[in-house]
Amino acid sequence: MSTVYSADDLIAGGGVFSALQPPARLGVFGDPVAHSKSPSFHNAALVAAGMDMSYVRIHVPEKKAEAAFRSLPKAGFVGANVTIPHKAAALACVDEAEDYARRSGSVNTVLVQGDRLHGFNTDGPGLVRAIREEFSVDLHDLRVVLLGAGGGAGRAIAVQCAMEACERLVLVNRTLEKAQALAAELAASFRTDRLIGPIERIQAIPFEQEALREQLAHADIVINATSVGMSRTDGALIPPSLLTPNLMVYDTVYATGKSRLLEDASAAGARCANGLSMLLHQGALSFEIWFNRPAPLDVMRQALISLP
Ligand code: NAP
Repeated sequence: MSTVYSADDLIAGGGVFSALQPPARLGVFGDPVAHSKSPSFHNAALVAAGMDMSYVRIHVPEKKAEAAFRSLPKAGFVGANVTIPHKAAALACVDEAEDYARRSGSVNTVLVQGDRLHGFNTDGPGLVRAIREEFSVDLHDLRVVLLGAGGGAGRAIAVQCAMEACERLVLVNRTLEKAQALAAELAASFRTDRLIGPIERIQAIPFEQEALREQLAHADIVINATSVGMSRTDGALIPPSLLTPNLMVYDTVYATGKSRLLEDASAAGARCANGLSMLLHQGALSFEIWFNRPAPLDVMRQALISLP
């Protein structure tokens, strides 16, 4: 495992990063962060693009998050990525945030301009690109069942679906109230003249077999944005019998390669993909924000898939 730097390294002025060869000018903030795959593909991209800088992991505990974000300009950083648990805090720390980041309540990409911090969220747009690449379809045209709509990733995906005006969106969450509140918030985006029959274009339901069965009968894609599947010992998120060959199943979780959900989905004959493609595309979009040029996607993909 390569080096993990600390928030104090940044807060102290970033000398340790300038001393590296090449100097670190980008990084990922998280807690924990040692597992992050981002340095591998971002460093490959920086080399391919001929940029004389590197990308590092920075362990940022919650109480030091604000100071760490505010230290980025002085430390000479171009920007940063943000992962668990700082995406919401990052939104509060930046001077300006793009519309999608504000609506999704989180920032995963920070761009430093002078002394100012600009916040973006590339998770939703990254998922759109991933779905197009994996299934050759556009999220806009799909009837989506989103599992885990109450979490940070779930909210970001739901907001993206609303901004894409996708055909239909069913928000599923263990804590139903969170999904209901989100459905109410996004309802206006689904109140258009696109008619698909007597059913509502946006709905919130709990993780209950009959409710899921009814909604899956009117769905094209199931997206898992819960944290279930991150451990190999996790059980089935939804009963395997509900998965049918006409469905596409996208699991944002990628930690275990093929999650139980994806195993059950492929056994049912459904088309499946895990979250590595979303990780790749959200990273490529971050690169485009930092450097205002296309990311070397093939190099990044190669670096990502060759990781152990
Ligand atoms: P989070 O904010 O902690 O949200 C967790 C979600 O999972 C909540 O909706 C929660 O429901 C639900 N959940 C947890 N345990 C559950 C269970 N046993 N049964 C049903 N639902 C359960 O986490 P997050 O930051 O949104 O991250 C969620 C996942 O997204 C992670 O696995 C992460 O790997 C993935 N992700 C992937 C990418 C990528 O690039 N591929 C990017 C971002 C996130 P309640 O609301 O009821 O608690």
